[in-house]
Amino acid sequence: MLRIKRVPTVVSNYQKEEGEEGTRLGGGCGRNCFRSCCLPGSKLPLYAFKKLNKIADGGKVELSYQNNEPPVPFLDSLLLGEWEDRMQRGLFRYDVTACETKVIPGEYGFIAQLNEGRHLKKRPTEFRVDKVLQPFDEAKFNFTKVGQEEVLFQFEASEDEEVKFFPSAPIDAENSPSVVAINVSPIEYGHVLLIPRILECLPQRIDHDSFLLALYMAAEAGNPYFRLGYNSLGAFATINHLHFQAYYLAVPFPIEKAPSKKITTTTGGVQISEILKYPVRGLLFEGRNTLEDLSNVVSDSCICLQDSNVPYNVLISDSGKRIFLLPQCYAEKQALGEVSSELLDTQVNPAVWEISGHMVLKRKEDYEGASEGNAWRLLAEVSLSEERFEEVKALIFEAIAGSIEEMDDDKPSFLEKPDVASQPLEDVDALNKGSQPAMVSV
Ligand SMILES: [Zn+2]
Repeated sequence: MLRIKRVPTVVSNYQKEEGEEGTRLGGGCGRNCFRSCCLPGSKLPLYAFKKLNKIADGGKVELSYQNNEPPVPFLDSLLLGEWEDRMQRGLFRYDVTACETKVIPGEYGFIAQLNEGRHLKKRPTEFRVDKVLQPFDEAKFNFTKVGQEEVLFQFEASEDEEVKFFPSAPIDAENSPSVVAINVSPIEYGHVLLIPRILECLPQRIDHDSFLLALYMAAEAGNPYFRLGYNSLGAFATINHLHFQAYYLAVPFPIEKAPSKKITTTTGGVQISEILKYPVRGLLFEGRNTLEDLSNVVSDSCICLQDSNVPYNVLISDSGKRIFLLPQCYAEKQALGEVSSELLDTQVNPAVWEISGHMVLKRKEDYEGASEGNAWRLLAEVSLSEERFEEVKALIFEAIAGSIEEMDDDKPSFLEKPDVASQPLEDVDALNKGSQPAMVSV
């Protein structure tokens, strides 16, 4: 069994060491939590989106309120407004807006943030990193244990043809609402968690409905600077309760600027490409038809990876129209003792945000010495080798073959050793081969 020690991020104020009980305040268990002890009679805002998801020619997702104003601007008023309200109420562990951030000079524009508050006051815990799918464990922290004040609103598909907003709606435990909650250790403005069907206590594992819900949220936000991300177990998720993360950061991510090479297009019009000239190898899925088509192909790919026990990260970009899928092996290397001490000392956990180029650094010296070369070296360790990536890619294409076979053009060229493969990321390999301990201060 492979394990790594790491300092877990506290995502909720109720995520405490065992034996540390909350104080009793009135009814229920005293924590105003999301379980049967405290839920009856509770209310939260409810945003009901309309399931309209055509991706128009211009690449814009057709939104619920296409022809009239939304009842409340989803991102600007509801999500960010409620988030700021929780900041005023002092629910965050530190003020993320005071964290220093800079764009690192260079071709890609990696973003460095100095975040010294995120990992303080916790003891290292052991994480099992060799199993992507693990059963839900009620005894461990999960999102039903958060306080209701940390939950911003319920996010549901509308039952009729109208997008609706209810400032105070009962929480229907029977229907297990999907909710958006704050991350009390934010890495950026508006950092939230989307928790699909929270009361079903689903383990961290992609399924079709939940992934589509995440795409609807990205589409509803309708802002390319508001992205969602997903980390599987073994790829730096710390809580085994299904959740996506999201935040607002008004700069392009380096991975979004990387060139790509088209591999194929599915019958549902989803273009699949390989990311080029980027330290982490991965696939890019772009929707041309509907969000549902895009969601299905990506979910099938994710399900294939998790069933094959390959840890991975997902970035949902461009309002839900571009999705980056990145299998990774950093935690495994870490457990096997194959990561240099220079990299380990930085304690950077390369999850979806770091892989996308937003480096969250814990030490001032790493922040001050941050360079594109250092960021690249860290991420190159996260990437699968070229050989392993080809194997994983073959698994994925086998899993989604049904949606590609019927294509009369554009057969998946990877089968006959495509031109893609003959353009390896030379830079990555060069850096990987130069295995002398570099002066890494990422
Ligand atoms: Zn309770």
